Amino acid sequence: METPISGETPPVDRQRPFHPLESLAAMRHEFGEHGGVNMSIEASTTFTVMTAGTLPEMFQGRLGPETGGCYLYGRHFNPTVYVLGRELAAIEGTAAAYGTASGMSAITAVVLQCCVPGDRIVAGNSLYGGTFAFFHDFLPRKAGVTTSFVDISDHVAVESACQRGVKLVYVESISNPTLVVADIPVLADIAHRYGAQLVVDNTFSPLILAPAKLGADIVVHSVTKFINGASDIIAGAICGTQEFIASLMDLHTGALMLLGPTMDPRVAFEISLRLPHLGMRMMEHSRRALVLSERLAERGFHVVYPGLRSHPQHELLKMLAHPDFGFGGLMSVDLVTTERAYKFMELLQNEDRFGYIAVSLGYFDTLMSVSASSTSSEMSAVDLQKAGISPGLVRISVGYTGSLEQRWQQLERALHQLGD
Ligand code: PLP
Repeated sequence: METPISGETPPVDRQRPFHPLESLAAMRHEFGEHGGVNMSIEASTTFTVMTAGTLPEMFQGRLGPETGGCYLYGRHFNPTVYVLGRELAAIEGTAAAYGTASGMSAITAVVLQCCVPGDRIVAGNSLYGGTFAFFHDFLPRKAGVTTSFVDISDHVAVESACQRGVKLVYVESISNPTLVVADIPVLADIAHRYGAQLVVDNTFSPLILAPAKLGADIVVHSVTKFINGASDIIAGAICGTQEFIASLMDLHTGALMLLGPTMDPRVAFEISLRLPHLGMRMMEHSRRALVLSERLAERGFHVVYPGLRSHPQHELLKMLAHPDFGFGGLMSVDLVTTERAYKFMELLQNEDRFGYIAVSLGYFDTLMSVSASSTSSEMSAVDLQKAGISPGLVRISVGYTGSLEQRWQQLERALHQLGD
């Protein structure tokens, strides 16, 4: 297998808007060791050198896969993970990217790499619960880093939070679970004016949004979700400049190298095979989510979906997003109380096989969860209220199994049984 040493950015035609799949297709194909159409998996955890003196050179950082040396050890760079990294960099439009063991490890490594004790972060007030807990509870206690949580659609509030000093502005491209769309160019401008970097978690909108092309400095993913698509692998990714990705692997100060949330090369191989159909999957997730949310809205339900004209950032998303992939696979319906939300999900799962009561998202089947009592339960009642996460908010990750009409009938039946 040819080992791509640097994550060369594919040539970009400046006359045409960035197209993530064209960028992916423009990459050099990695053939397998025996000419296979799939790349080979480099499973080795360690790599041999022909001259013993090479090793000290590598440990001192003078030789490495990017500087005329070779691979060192699997927790440092691995060739197969490197190929996936180049592919993810291609779809995100960054110079480099690298895989991690989970979305949380991508997020935590980025923050720990960028911040030192005393630093401040300005973050969205509606974030995945694990990310919220990391910022709210872990960082101040373990690292002396504090976070101000703000409504990221209120740019005056973001700016005034930045005025007190800021190292990172951290947002989700489409927030979990409130589906607020981040105005990435404006947030990048604010962050940069205050000397901060903008980090965007693009888990909800792969291909739909390319945050780095809109001004973000670092993009993170829970690859576990849409990019994977089969809910069978936990994985993450960090996308950014060559220098930043290399810094994560620094033998003395690299958060990935030293904390060690390595992506297994077999995982990288599996994920790489799923990227070619990510576009088709995103289109179908989006198409179905739009139809279901339109029909629910017509019947007077409180439904939130960025594809609906009633969504406060609908026009913004249309402007920022690539037009081929729709508005995403996540929608929410607010059934006001926890009891009604639970009953609704139980009817849909146990009577009709519409989907599963399960956290996570991006699966080919539909997944439903009540955010306030599951993936956002790390937040206090006050924080939930500030973020607009009601106790009856059901987050639905719309799958594409069965037919759309069959799924709509099931949804209608459950709402009828619920008494709506
Ligand atoms: N970011 C978002 C937006 C998420 O929804 C999640 C998990 O649900 C994560 C990050 C964490 O990802 P992982 O479970 O792969 O660690």
